[in-house]
Amino acid sequence: MQHVHTQISHRAPLQPLTDDQARDAAHFWRQRLRIPQRIILERISRFQVTGEDGRPGWSLVGVVYDTHIATIYHTRILTLEDIVHELLHVQNPSWTESRVVYQTQEIVDSLRSRELSD
Ligand SMILES: [Zn+2]
Repeated sequence: MQHVHTQISHRAPLQPLTDDQARDAAHFWRQRLRIPQRIILERISRFQVTGEDGRPGWSLVGVVYDTHIATIYHTRILTLEDIVHELLHVQNPSWTESRVVYQTQEIVDSLRSRELSD
């Protein structure tokens, strides 16, 4: 089975991660969510992405996975939200987009409130 999920938008990223931070976050959340697949982060060009208006140059974050490997493709710098969101898709193939969005927000909010209380 191969799954493709994409978020395409012109929105600017919040809290962008460096490549090292993104790799660390993917490693951490892979373990936390008990995801068996190997995770690869793959930067691609905006010119490879055609948006809803039929024109290339759109921003994209998406994941393609099978039982062994999950590859997160991204045209822009990743955020923690992106990584949690895409890994939740891998962990829960049957979840709807809105459930993934909701659960991602729950996780990110709980991290923020923990940071504030420390
Ligand atoms: Zn999604």
